[in-house]
Amino acid sequence: MARDVHRNGWDSGRQPAPAGRVVLPGSLVGILGGGQLGRMMALEGRRMGYRFAVLDPTEDSPCGQVADIQVVAPYTDVDAARRLAEMADVITYEFENVDAGVASVLERTAYVPQGSRLLATTQHRLREKRALVAAGAPVAPFAPVGSLNDLRDALAVTGLPAVLKTCTGGYDGKGQWKITTPDDLEAVWAEASRAVGLPAAGAAAGAGAEAMDAPLMVEGFVPFVHELSAIVARSPRGQVRTFPVAENIHRDHILHLSVVPARIPQDIQRQAQAFAERIAVSLGGVGLLAVEMFLTADGRLFVNELAPRPHNSGHYTYDACATSQFEQHLRAVCNLPLGSVRLLTPVVMVNILGEHVAPVLRVLPQLPDNVKVHLYGKHEAKSKRKMGHLNVLADSVEEALDTIRALDIWLL
Ligand code: AMP
Repeated sequence: MARDVHRNGWDSGRQPAPAGRVVLPGSLVGILGGGQLGRMMALEGRRMGYRFAVLDPTEDSPCGQVADIQVVAPYTDVDAARRLAEMADVITYEFENVDAGVASVLERTAYVPQGSRLLATTQHRLREKRALVAAGAPVAPFAPVGSLNDLRDALAVTGLPAVLKTCTGGYDGKGQWKITTPDDLEAVWAEASRAVGLPAAGAAAGAGAEAMDAPLMVEGFVPFVHELSAIVARSPRGQVRTFPVAENIHRDHILHLSVVPARIPQDIQRQAQAFAERIAVSLGGVGLLAVEMFLTADGRLFVNELAPRPHNSGHYTYDACATSQFEQHLRAVCNLPLGSVRLLTPVVMVNILGEHVAPVLRVLPQLPDNVKVHLYGKHEAKSKRKMGHLNVLADSVEEALDTIRALDIWLL
């Protein structure tokens, strides 16, 4: 049998005694969050012999449909979190905005191998950027912003164009504003300060250039030619593995396509993977960490943001890699040896949003045999809501893109 030697020096052929607790199949995994990420985690984990309980505010959530036990309660319900903790052998989460009170209850009463430190870091953009700098990862220049004066000073650091972002709660492009010229400043500030509840004119109490609790931050706009992501897994025993880099194409700030292999030079792919590994090790994360990056025309990478969980841009792994990101996440949090991240075939993942569901169902009876369908079991196909995805497997990514084009659902 071929020996599987990781480039960081881990040799899974030798199998030293693992550090940390091993959670064996048969155990009950508790998942905070019942969306599609939890659903795919549970589907993969059931195949491995694990059982699942999920906490989500809605009954019959995507994950609830495939879990053994549903705890239906708000994410902030500490008693419900305690109930989940009591029945589960290990706890994980599928979204990063876990309430701090809930996280600390879980940590005190249950086994949460991912801990709450990385979670706290990635819940706050400024903290995250500082952790990236400490890890030696390249990031665009940035500065905290608590007032219009801060913003003016910060722009002297970042230059223009720049992007003003809320430090917490933003996703899919929400909570960010591009500043292209000095003339944009007042209008952007009026909108952003309203969004975070700051007085439009005055300075925020306690805010200032060094404030960690600044509600906003500004960063230089990176003139990228590609958006990339590298998803890395790390286990308590210190094993680290990174999936092939995905080239991500967004529409209206929502992921549209992931193209793998990314159409970028090999050495840049390796560099992106190396940054992801360095960040995972530096931050001491356990489980998956998705690292989103920008690539500029002159071949420079900038890390944009992190997500300590399975990621939409890793859905391609389900059908195209020897191990899916969901299985890898479970292997990591359960402290099993990590699986091979080998890409078995070129692939393009295309997201199915609410407006694409009806056309996808229409073409389903004639779907080519290289298209794998994933639908999340969500009841309401609202516009822009992520309802599913297709993984299109082909001999080349160009061929996969042609297949998607021929379906005539998305304008590529
Ligand atoms: P984020 O919420 O930080 O992932 O940003 C959402 C999207 O906004 C990214 O996928 C980029 O397309 C764009 N974006 C965010 N920050 C920057 C930046 N500093 N420079 C250029 N584009 C950005």
